[in-house]
Amino acid sequence: MKTINNYKNKKVLVLGLAKSGFAAAKLLHGLGANVIVNDMKPLEENETAQMLVELGINVVCGSHPLALVDESLFAIIKNPGIPYTNPLLQKASTLHIPILTEVELAYQISEAPFIGITGSNGKTTTTTLIYEMLKVGKKNPLIAGNIGTVACEVAQEAKNDNYIVTELSSFQLMGIEEFKPAISVFLNLFEAHLDYHGTKEEYGKAKANIFKAQTEDEFAVANLDDQEVSQFVEHSNATKVYFSTKQTIPNGACIVDNVLQFKGEGIINIKDIALPGEHNLGNILAAVSVSKLIGVDNHSIIHVLRTFTGVKHRLQYIGTKNERDFYNDSKATNILATSAALSAFTKPIVLLAGGLDRGNDFDDLLPYMNNVKALVTFGQTAEKLINIAQKAGIKTIEHVDNVEKAVPVAYNLSNPNDVILLSPACASWDQYKTFEVRGDIFTEAVHKLK
Ligand code: ADP
Repeated sequence: MKTINNYKNKKVLVLGLAKSGFAAAKLLHGLGANVIVNDMKPLEENETAQMLVELGINVVCGSHPLALVDESLFAIIKNPGIPYTNPLLQKASTLHIPILTEVELAYQISEAPFIGITGSNGKTTTTTLIYEMLKVGKKNPLIAGNIGTVACEVAQEAKNDNYIVTELSSFQLMGIEEFKPAISVFLNLFEAHLDYHGTKEEYGKAKANIFKAQTEDEFAVANLDDQEVSQFVEHSNATKVYFSTKQTIPNGACIVDNVLQFKGEGIINIKDIALPGEHNLGNILAAVSVSKLIGVDNHSIIHVLRTFTGVKHRLQYIGTKNERDFYNDSKATNILATSAALSAFTKPIVLLAGGLDRGNDFDDLLPYMNNVKALVTFGQTAEKLINIAQKAGIKTIEHVDNVEKAVPVAYNLSNPNDVILLSPACASWDQYKTFEVRGDIFTEAVHKLK
């Protein structure tokens, strides 16, 4: 960990606890800052806040008093989920008080370089692929953020021969000033969090902040097939490395005659890649680009590509039973992700789908339903999905209570050589606490099949 003195004896407000706020508060306290933590949850119910009180940190819980923000503040570290329209943050910006997120703090103290991955879809998959390739290639990666430990904590342990690999949401990137990854990755830009960012342009700009501090000494790996991503990266000062599944790129990563290439060098035939799905080829090209830039040997890259079958709940191969292949894609909480999953297979599919009704229709799924031979549906959107399956000419449709019941029904409708796929196209919250719970229930039910 770098010893930095800029927070010493300075007043810093940590807004919003959760894991990242807790880690940031402890770190700042250790750096000698005068920390105040503010969280909405009352102290009696707030275990993390109580732990901070024991450390001697000043904690204000249960409300967000505007008076916490005044000229005496050196900086605010906010939870990524808190929007900039929050009155405390509005006041802070009028007073020109810097508003940071925890990842920026992690960057300031880290001895290790960062590899940051952003995009609308595929962040977790690509982050995991990069981590695995660097691990097999003995480059000492550490994973931080969403699928690992909080970045601030990882950064405290990291040495200069480590790499911190972390996925970054638009919420985390929005307030970026200094954060300068050695390699940034911008995968794609699809759906917009319009409730938070207002417009797709603003959403894209927040993500493009990943390049903001980069210079020609750092790399930006970007998707040439995505017009908006390419436009954003053009304005960056970083050394650009493009990837494409459609065009040949002599200086980047692409597919030529079914062989994955980096800078003209053939690495692997795509038929030998274990991870299914056209959409994953983009994620793979990005991961290979990063690994090659760091100097991972081809042998390690090939090993990971031959063996990595997906991150849990993301088009994850569960196994084959009586010649049926089972896939858990519970993370597919929108139409786009389910379309990608359906496009990944040429075999007939028995699709398990349904969940929280957000008021949208499912017409955009229609072009992807050609291989779907049967639908087993559940949850609030069941009727809407039945409707779309009928439009697609699917003859076999079953409405069941939940995912657990859907599995044996789907199995009875299937034949050898079919794919049985949970890819709900909906969030889980109408019936399950998280998409992980839903995916685990699916997986268990598959294992129970005789
Ligand atoms: P994120 O971390 O960005 O949410 P994940 O890797 O967790 O991304 O994948 C989320 C969902 O999106 C999964 O259902 C996955 O199969 C699908 N997906 C992954 N990569 C892509 C991509 N490049 N394009 C479209 N869908 C994708």
